Amino acid sequence: MANFINYQNRDDLMSKIHRIGQCITRGNGRSYGDSALSETYVSCLQHNRILGFDENKGIIKCESGILLSEIIEIFTPRGWFLKVAPGTKLITVGGAIASDVHGKNHHKDGCFSETVENIALMLSSGDVVQCSHRKNRELFLATCGGMGLTGIILEVSFSLKPISSKNIEQTTIKTRNLQETFDAFEEYADDTYSVAWIDCLSKGKLIGRSLLMTGEFSQDRNLQYVPKKKITIPFNFPSLVLNYLAVKSFNALYYASAKPGVSHQIVDLDSFFFPLDSINSWNRVYGSHGFVQYQFILPKNVSYEGLLKILKKISDKGFGSFLAVLKLYGKHNDNYLSFPMEGYSLALDFKMQKGLLDFLKELDQIVLEYEGRFYLAKDARVSKKVFESGYPKIEEFRELRQSNKMKDKFSSLQSKRLGL
Ligand SMILES: Cc1cc2nc3c(=O)[nH]c(=O)nc-3n(C[C@H](O)[C@H](O)[C@H](O)COP(=O)(O)OP(=O)(O)OC[C@H]3O[C@@H](n4cnc5c(N)ncnc54)[C@H](O)[C@@H]3O)c2cc1C
Repeated sequence: MANFINYQNRDDLMSKIHRIGQCITRGNGRSYGDSALSETYVSCLQHNRILGFDENKGIIKCESGILLSEIIEIFTPRGWFLKVAPGTKLITVGGAIASDVHGKNHHKDGCFSETVENIALMLSSGDVVQCSHRKNRELFLATCGGMGLTGIILEVSFSLKPISSKNIEQTTIKTRNLQETFDAFEEYADDTYSVAWIDCLSKGKLIGRSLLMTGEFSQDRNLQYVPKKKITIPFNFPSLVLNYLAVKSFNALYYASAKPGVSHQIVDLDSFFFPLDSINSWNRVYGSHGFVQYQFILPKNVSYEGLLKILKKISDKGFGSFLAVLKLYGKHNDNYLSFPMEGYSLALDFKMQKGLLDFLKELDQIVLEYEGRFYLAKDARVSKKVFESGYPKIEEFRELRQSNKMKDKFSSLQSKRLGL
């Protein structure tokens, strides 16, 4: 049984930190992998106060347990939005920094850490230090993307961007194969947001056909944001429901639902940025054995070749995923373990079934062959060797943890598995 540690304030946390052994911080538990799993957790969720907002600079100061959804509800009607929004708003600011999350605009605006002005971090000693791009820079670079392994993020200042609407002007481009998908990404690379859904079971000449969605905030001055209503999946689907034929049919229907060529529509920000958040317990469609999320990124010069190889392997084998999301990424940042690099990333959800884990090991080898890497926030299975080959600064991260006694205090199932 896991041991949950809550705390009243800094002093209370400091005294508890001294008394407990190894632990990991928990945000809202939305990571797909084992990064927030440990025998002992420190929960930041109750610490969700906004501590200040500078209207001139758009800088918010808050406690780390606040959810992005809470920030959006308060600030959208006032004309502000997150500079970087991942595919779910149900995560904490602490979790956004620890995974250094990215959104549909990475090719333009980078990761969440690029919006951060300052972090107050509790170290294993219980001392609280401030770090930023300028102050205690090494600690900052290790903390952003560091999966809670450097300390407990207590408070954060980060910047928002001004918006004039809660709506997005969305363009949908329907492509017939992977080459057209890549061409469309490049043609629309000036658009702020872009993401493609790929039909990963299409074969032959149709391989890589997709719906690329790009978007910009509308200028219609409608800031009357009301969070989207949710529906709930009430029970685990029987595992036969999501078989090969079902995924193939879903993919074909979804692809057919878009108009040929290029189409335009206005959608609200929840539909554009956070489509899965409107379905409570969406994971139940995968049945009681659950699913495995598989996300990798490949350098740009080999992205097309590597992705073609991987998509061919998936469609030949028939391990279908109806959530197959392709994104374009811009330059990497200096953080030790942040996932993005300039290139393309594919994220897939595979229903857990016999043979899947061995199949994923085969895909891992292709990712390695093309010098790609895996995303810690989405991983519970890659080997130490596979993981570290994608991260050139891994040894610096390990040394920092060792020399600052972080390793004695902060550890997760993931950090143990990967020797972080
Ligand atoms: C539907 C869905 C869509 C997603 N889309 C994207 C996406 O588009 N882009 C993207 O980058 N990610 C995406 N993610 C992943 C998600 O954004 C990250 O896993 C995020 O870190 C989860 O935050 P959390 O608050 O739930 O943290 P948790 O899952 O609880 O923890 C995640 C990590 O953060 C650490 N942590 C949390 N709080 C703190 C703190 N206060 N101090 C120190 N460490 C802390 C934990 O130790 C752990 O290592 C998605 C996840 C889901 C479920």
